[in-house]
Amino acid sequence: MTVREAAAVAAAAASALPAWSALGPNARRAQLNAAAMALEAKGDAIVAAMIAECAAHEGWARFNLRLGADMLREAAALTTQIGGEVIPSDKPGCLAMALREPAGVCLGIAPWNAPVILVVRALAVPLACGNTVILKASEICPMTHGLIVDAFADAGFAPGVVGLVTNAPANAGEVVGALIDHPAVRRINFTGSTAVGRIIAIRAAQNLKPVLLELGGKAPLIVLADADLDQAVKAAAFGSFMNAGQICMSTERIIVVDAVAEAFVAAFTAKVSTMHAASVVDTRAVDHVAALVDAAVAAGARLGTGGPADGVIMPPHVVDHVTPAMALFREESFGPVVAVTRARDEAHAVELANDTDYGLSASVFTRDVARGLTIARAMKSGICHINGPTVHDEAQMPFGGTKASGYGRFGGKAGIDAFTELRWITIETQPGHFPI
Ligand code: NAD
Repeated sequence: MTVREAAAVAAAAASALPAWSALGPNARRAQLNAAAMALEAKGDAIVAAMIAECAAHEGWARFNLRLGADMLREAAALTTQIGGEVIPSDKPGCLAMALREPAGVCLGIAPWNAPVILVVRALAVPLACGNTVILKASEICPMTHGLIVDAFADAGFAPGVVGLVTNAPANAGEVVGALIDHPAVRRINFTGSTAVGRIIAIRAAQNLKPVLLELGGKAPLIVLADADLDQAVKAAAFGSFMNAGQICMSTERIIVVDAVAEAFVAAFTAKVSTMHAASVVDTRAVDHVAALVDAAVAAGARLGTGGPADGVIMPPHVVDHVTPAMALFREESFGPVVAVTRARDEAHAVELANDTDYGLSASVFTRDVARGLTIARAMKSGICHINGPTVHDEAQMPFGGTKASGYGRFGGKAGIDAFTELRWITIETQPGHFPI
């Protein structure tokens, strides 16, 4: 689309806003539930599109559909929970209220890696709150994203309530910029890379518009001396290599204390050696992962398992003895590689885990749950799991990061805060006394 065509989508969303926001909560709930069914009904077409456009595995595509439908049903359940409060006023006879109202047109920008989950997340709670929405689709998977928007039309959403904007890669900056600038757009949410997130935050700030940013990650998984190593191995393998490591919450760094490092690395490498190679999105992703691995090995790290790619099919890589001086410790790989770093003790492990620009997800393995909680609270991340993988998402949870992983929260009640305007309204029930 051109900038003009994108502006027309924003105008249509503005026109659709009064009728959509005036619907009662149960009418909105019914439509969101219908959208969940319409999404499921389109399942095979969406799975085929994901495989064609994103080189996705069918299991990943079907998981995307299931969680996407769950997110729509959770948003449907929220429509009667968008409450306000009555606040005691010192003014005699004054009834003071805090009311949540729709913010207006919400722009959602979503990437390709979990294309159903991340699009539904960008749209469902904003819709539940009475906003109309525009999806700016990823250039990598416009068909997948378009089919999701079609599901809303199939479910009977009126024209303009859910709009779609697509663009050629070279036009991303001007098309997204024009949408952020459009006066009808009142909220922006963006899931994608930290570099683009920063561009979007600056443009939103110029317009004084709130933006929710879900950006990259470099999630650490800490293994302490008293960990259940079998569970830690399984969680680390899942967290590192689900969807070939192309998940924002992927375990990118395993930080294991010296006391169990040899035992953990031996078991983990053995487990990963049995895992299949998987396709990544494109050859740029292959080159990026290979460059990080090669540089780490050249600087003294040890390749536990891995090997050359065959086209876009890459085996999972475990790189041991990675140090904070290596790019593999700092840069998001977004691919099938995990760095193992050894820590002297628990305090050193936490220090290493927090030695990153990112702060999305994290996890810690220990049989001492109180110690796990202390560590979880010391982690500078939006999310931390004790004895669970770094990859975990549920529709009703407050999902989001800190530092270079962004700000703001999707999910459940946190999403209501993000996509409504909180207003202060008063009613005076007695004649007023005015000092002048
Ligand atoms: P990306 O940032 O390259 O692209 C995302 C979107 O940004 C696309 O729609 C694109 O059109 C747009 N864009 C590109 N250049 C732009 C510009 N100059 N101005 C405005 N918009 C522009 O991200 P990607 O490669 O599609 O996705 C992978 C990234 O997303 C990874 O870093 C990953 O960690 C992150 N991610 C984060 C989460 C999360 O919840 N935190 C979830 C999934 C993925």
